[in-house]
Amino acid sequence: MNQKVAMVGTPCEIMAASKIQHYTESVIDFKIGLFCMENFSYSYFTELLKEYNITMDEIEKFRIEKGKAFIFLKNGKLEKIPLSIAKSVVRKNCHICAELSSETSDISIGSIGSEDGWSTIIIRTQKGQDVINNAISQGYIEAHDLTESQLKLLNKIADKKIQNNLETIEEREYHARPVLYQREISDNAILDEINNSNFLDLRKNVIDVGACVLCGACEYACPDGLITIKDSKPRKSKKCPEDCHFCFAVCPRTFIPEKLRNDSSKVLGDYKKIMTVRSLKHYDGQDGVVVTTILDYLVSNKIVTKALVVDKKDDLAWKPYPVLTDDIDEIVKSSGTKYSVCPVFKPLIDLKEDVI
Ligand SMILES: Cc1cc2nc3c(=O)[nH]c(=O)nc-3n(C[C@H](O)[C@H](O)[C@H](O)COP(=O)(O)OP(=O)(O)OC[C@H]3O[C@@H](n4cnc5c(N)ncnc54)[C@H](O)[C@@H]3O)c2cc1C
Ligand code: SF4
Ligand code: SF4
Ligand code: SF4
Repeated sequence: MNQKVAMVGTPCEIMAASKIQHYTESVIDFKIGLFCMENFSYSYFTELLKEYNITMDEIEKFRIEKGKAFIFLKNGKLEKIPLSIAKSVVRKNCHICAELSSETSDISIGSIGSEDGWSTIIIRTQKGQDVINNAISQGYIEAHDLTESQLKLLNKIADKKIQNNLETIEEREYHARPVLYQREISDNAILDEINNSNFLDLRKNVIDVGACVLCGACEYACPDGLITIKDSKPRKSKKCPEDCHFCFAVCPRTFIPEKLRNDSSKVLGDYKKIMTVRSLKHYDGQDGVVVTTILDYLVSNKIVTKALVVDKKDDLAWKPYPVLTDDIDEIVKSSGTKYSVCPVFKPLIDLKEDVI
């Protein structure tokens, strides 16, 4: 059966998905991108929490906003950790990340700009527009325009992230290797680079310099199954065939084709409409529970066959792991933000036969 997958991911994961779509036949059909200021190392965050006498399994929910990490505990208490402290456990690759809002998605969703209990949604493609219109008319979600001041805030925060991180990129490039995905070269020049590159180049330019976002796109794309993500790093087991370059092509931290490249003068990227939205079907999620509800709409209406979501492990509290499912209960269970990374593309490896 030919599969069509709707996925949710951070901007770097959505860029990897867009590159997978660009360079390969892919089952990914609809991309829901999240807003993302930063992400955290699971192990270092666990260590940081020890200083506050908190363990991961005592936590009900995380929220990061207004300069603080709010840790809601299952016993009803609330711990606030200033972001200036939590920043010490932000992943190194996030400091060179020059987009906030998943600019290559069909729709992007985050909390910035919306009131509590609502999510901000940026509609970017015609497919995204149709999905949102139909989800509204079928009573899945309700939506209003953002006010001018809400839109201004969103633009301001996106601009701040981009400018800060472009400065870090400039500084890093002065002392170390070029940050490849910021290179503005032609598509033909990119193809030449790809044709001369393999996993060793990925290791040298991305993994060893702390630019890897641990998305797992390289593991997914390797036709010979040589890559596994072990000890927080992609590793390769055997010698590569001479003419293979897939891992280098799809990595979101190598060269970006012209049509996917972010234009840093448009801080939110290209879009059709921005709105504030909330679910009319699901009530237990991170903000407006809009991601969960759109995935419910897509799967229930058979617009896609499966949803690729990120749930948290039962035996390792708040440790994210990817799930590919058509079960609405599993989609609902995966709601809520897990503030650390996981190789999201892993479950798609089993579907590759469907697209060959
Ligand atoms: C690391 C991270 C940082 C973020 N930073 C910001 C920010 O700075 N500003 C902002 O406005 N919004 C940010 N968001 C997005 C925000 O937290 C909400 O996900 C978004 O507002 C959607 O809320 P919702 O209620 O509609 O989602 P829900 O209906 O609760 O669904 C959340 C969805 O997110 C997916 N998900 C959860 N964790 C991850 C993960 N680690 N990786 C990929 N997918 C995941 C789940 O699969 C689920 O489908 C961030 C999200 C992440 C994962
Ligand atoms: S690199 Fe970090 S900040 Fe950028 S999108 Fe990925 S997780 Fe978010
Ligand atoms: S076989 Fe190809 S995709 Fe796999 S590691 Fe080698 S170069 Fe990368
Ligand atoms: S090296 Fe692999 S896991 Fe790391 S960012 Fe690139 S594709 Fe993703």
